[in-house]
Amino acid sequence: MEKNNDAVSKIEELRAELNTLKDKKRKLDKKSKTKKAEKKEKKKAEVKNIVEKKKTKKAEKKEKKKAEVKNIVEKKKTKEEKKEEEKTLEEQLEEQLSDKEIENFKIEKVDMEKLTHRVCDILVERESSGMIQSELWKKLKLSSRDGSRLALKLERMGNITREKILEKGRWTYKLILKKTPISTTSIENAPCLICPVVQKCTLEGEISPQTCVWIEEWVTTGTSQLRRKL
Ligand code: SF4
Repeated sequence: MEKNNDAVSKIEELRAELNTLKDKKRKLDKKSKTKKAEKKEKKKAEVKNIVEKKKTKKAEKKEKKKAEVKNIVEKKKTKEEKKEEEKTLEEQLEEQLSDKEIENFKIEKVDMEKLTHRVCDILVERESSGMIQSELWKKLKLSSRDGSRLALKLERMGNITREKILEKGRWTYKLILKKTPISTTSIENAPCLICPVVQKCTLEGEISPQTCVWIEEWVTTGTSQLRRKL
């Protein structure tokens, strides 16, 4: 009987010990689970952090690139605006007018041939140093617009060259004479132009400028009887 009681008590002891062990295991399992979950959460947070950082970096890079492009566009725009502002009236006219419009430019009620000769007469005195165009327009009493168009025309005709210069902070042109136009004014009353015997007139012949009374009269007086006769 006593033996049986010992065995029962031993069993009870073992059971209690087993329960304690079970309890310990449960606690250990729980602890391990918690640790695992924490590790997982930590890993998740780390990954999230890396992704966020990457995202931020990408967004920052994009913003930087955007700002750079904007900056380039702004600079280009400013440069173009500045270039546009610095354009001279002549450059604007050259863009607006066709070659024909420049070459055929005329000022109302003005003899363009005479005006061209006046420009050349003034410029010939300045030789290679030329003259600032505004000074010339002032002398000729021309508006800047008419003067600028005349300068373009004379350049096209090969009479002048234009040198772009900065004068008192503004771009303008210096005009230099290149070639004086041939004038027909000096010979327009010459009798030879209407002479009925011009075909027979030679230097050594019977009819010759050396003995011609009409030419002599024209040279000395500027007129001729022949012209008055016809
Ligand atoms: S020089 Fe006298 S003749 Fe001879 S073409 Fe002239 S005007 Fe006539």
